[in-house]
Amino acid sequence: MSPSKEKILVIEDNEASAELFTYLLKAFGYEALLAKNGQDGVRAALSERPALILCDIHMPDMDGFSVVSVLKADKNLAHTPVLAVTALAMMGDQEKILSAGFDGYISKPIEPEKFVPYLQTFLPNRTP
Ligand code: MN
Repeated sequence: MSPSKEKILVIEDNEASAELFTYLLKAFGYEALLAKNGQDGVRAALSERPALILCDIHMPDMDGFSVVSVLKADKNLAHTPVLAVTALAMMGDQEKILSAGFDGYISKPIEPEKFVPYLQTFLPNRTP
């Protein structure tokens, strides 16, 4: 039996970003789960119980702020780190992001070499 990989859920509607994030996570040995909208993201979080959730802010229908409020209100997910992914133009809204319940944020475009190491600072066990 192989050791199970830590699951990381990516909630991201932009295909290129989603592809890059899941590629980097897999390269570091994580199991990357992808949800392409907020509703699917909440469902996947509830059923898969990932170790960490990465969530885009700008999504149609259910944006990242709505997603994090639902996740943090769930007793099983309240302590799961949820990181926002935002465009650089939104960096002035850091306070809004953190007060909405996100544990941290990453600005797009991401720096590939810093992406997973930053996520790992939010995981209790830093090696997958
Ligand atoms: Mn988006």
